[in-house]
Amino acid sequence: MTPLLLPLLLAAAVPTKGPPAKGMPAISEQTQKSGGPRPAEQLAVGFRSVDLSIEVLPDTGTLKGHATLEFDVKQDVTRLLLDLDSNLKVRSVGVNRAPLDPERWSRPDGQLSIDVSQRAGTRVTVDVFYDGQPHVAVNAPWDDGVVWSRTKDGRTWFATTAEGYGCDLWWPCLDFPRGEPAVATLHVIVPKGLKAPSNGKLLGVDTLPDGRTNWHWRARQPNTYALALNVGPFEEVTGTYRSRFGNAIPMTYWYLPGERAKAEKLFAEFAPTLDFFERVIGPYPFGDEKLGVVETPHKGMEHQTINAYGNGYAKAIEGFDWLFQHELAHEWFGNQLTAGDWDDYWLHEGYGTLMQPMYGEWREGRARYAAMMQGLRDKIANKVPMVRGRSVTEEEVYEPTRGGPGQDIYYKGAWMLHTLRWLIGDPAFRDVTRLAVYGRTDPRPGNFTPRYGSSAEYEGFVRQVTGRDYRWFFDVYLRQAALPELVETRRGDTLSLAWKAPGAFPMPVEIEVDGVRTTLPMTDGRATLPIAADAHLVIDPDARVLKRSIAIEELQTWRSSTK
Ligand SMILES: [Zn+2]
Repeated sequence: MTPLLLPLLLAAAVPTKGPPAKGMPAISEQTQKSGGPRPAEQLAVGFRSVDLSIEVLPDTGTLKGHATLEFDVKQDVTRLLLDLDSNLKVRSVGVNRAPLDPERWSRPDGQLSIDVSQRAGTRVTVDVFYDGQPHVAVNAPWDDGVVWSRTKDGRTWFATTAEGYGCDLWWPCLDFPRGEPAVATLHVIVPKGLKAPSNGKLLGVDTLPDGRTNWHWRARQPNTYALALNVGPFEEVTGTYRSRFGNAIPMTYWYLPGERAKAEKLFAEFAPTLDFFERVIGPYPFGDEKLGVVETPHKGMEHQTINAYGNGYAKAIEGFDWLFQHELAHEWFGNQLTAGDWDDYWLHEGYGTLMQPMYGEWREGRARYAAMMQGLRDKIANKVPMVRGRSVTEEEVYEPTRGGPGQDIYYKGAWMLHTLRWLIGDPAFRDVTRLAVYGRTDPRPGNFTPRYGSSAEYEGFVRQVTGRDYRWFFDVYLRQAALPELVETRRGDTLSLAWKAPGAFPMPVEIEVDGVRTTLPMTDGRATLPIAADAHLVIDPDARVLKRSIAIEELQTWRSSTK
């Protein structure tokens, strides 16, 4: 699609002051908010497509954009309500390819309200011309905004991150997990000599008469916060992955000049990591587009098919780059399977975190898996439940000060899944995971598209696959803060074990008595058995079950007292 209404490709006047300082310009609460209950105006439309032309102007820290958005109207509407940070000034608006009288659109804080008169069953197209200095992140990607940086030799190195505050930081969108457009086309104009790797497939690169280049990309159903701009003097290492599913997947890593050896080493991890995911989970979801990674001036982010990498080629005893592996995991758990509400983001981060130990196990066996799982265990806080059962915003999940589970969606999520995997067994766990990711257990390239999931749906998949109701499991791990505790009592030659948990908790447990292993079914949450008074007992010797640990609680208390 081409820009209309106003010419976009005029070179902007370039004042010589640099981009805004970190944290500037400030953003409002409305822009910071991502997700939560959706306004009726947004529920009334389906997002068909976005076509975004963006010029990146590093000298002033400015973006100049034209967005064309197409919506299917599901219910009669009199206005469209888009999210867009007020730091971006809207210059003009068009509806159905005609300019709209400025009195018919307005900018309530962080939003763009557009008068329309559309009947259900029709389609509406909106053009938005805007420009401004987007908010600069303080500590990306843990807060959000754009990152203006420079390479060692002083050239522009730029990236966007938007998971927390949302897509409205730099483009007009529906800032809710379910606000994904069915297709996104990007045209990114950058200064001479710079590149703009982005989401999806590269359609082409035009060179403008003054040397600027315009990079055209198209992505299928991107996650709302996954659209990303990346600008820099990148070099590339590319290859093709021959998938076990018969397709060929283009792979590219864009890295800063001067790092070729390190870049090639990281790139060499791409194919074996894909082997793991395709064997253990299923087909790479965007094989018809690419596997893309770009070096960023921030740590990392799961930008669909253009994952951000900023781990500095760190080495680890596991022998692989956890950050690259983690962000790539989100192509399955985040971008292919997207939680329909922030309340269910353990689906992204619990699985996204479990994938590193599972990759360690794939490469080196059970000892590595166990060691990596143990490395996560003492990070679990158990202050509040992982899900609340209602629509919440990103900050209500990530910020403990706002009652959120915070990092528990990573570590406790991974440990809950680790326990579930043992409880129902690997084949069932694989099927549940495939149903959640692809909506089917026999995924092949072309027989699935990105989908939304939820905790309730996930529990349903566990029931469907196992034929048993595991509500008691999710009630305790998802909907309660405290962990179940296994209380052990030895009296004479009798051992009693009992689960202390809110509600029924018939979780089996393995024990080892003088080196002999047994699994106790723990029906009714308890077991009593004879044991010699001098026998040596080890409970749950492989640490299969996420349960209360006094040692870890004491460690956490001690740590916070020595801070
Ligand atoms: Zn993650």
